[in-house]
Amino acid sequence: MKRNKCKKCGRLLFKGEAKTIEIKCPKCGYIQNIQGDKQRDSQKRVDFLKRIV
Ligand SMILES: [Zn+2]
Repeated sequence: MKRNKCKKCGRLLFKGEAKTIEIKCPKCGYIQNIQGDKQRDSQKRVDFLKRIV
């Protein structure tokens, strides 16, 4: 299972996959947006297609 940690302090926020989530760190209060792997992969594919066109 994927571990999602706070980008600022490294505290473990939750485990598992999330498509798009906004979460506030209970330790430092930093609000971060986390996007799942599927979304990032499709964005990579779009970038790749732009390069070969
Ligand atoms: Zn934090």
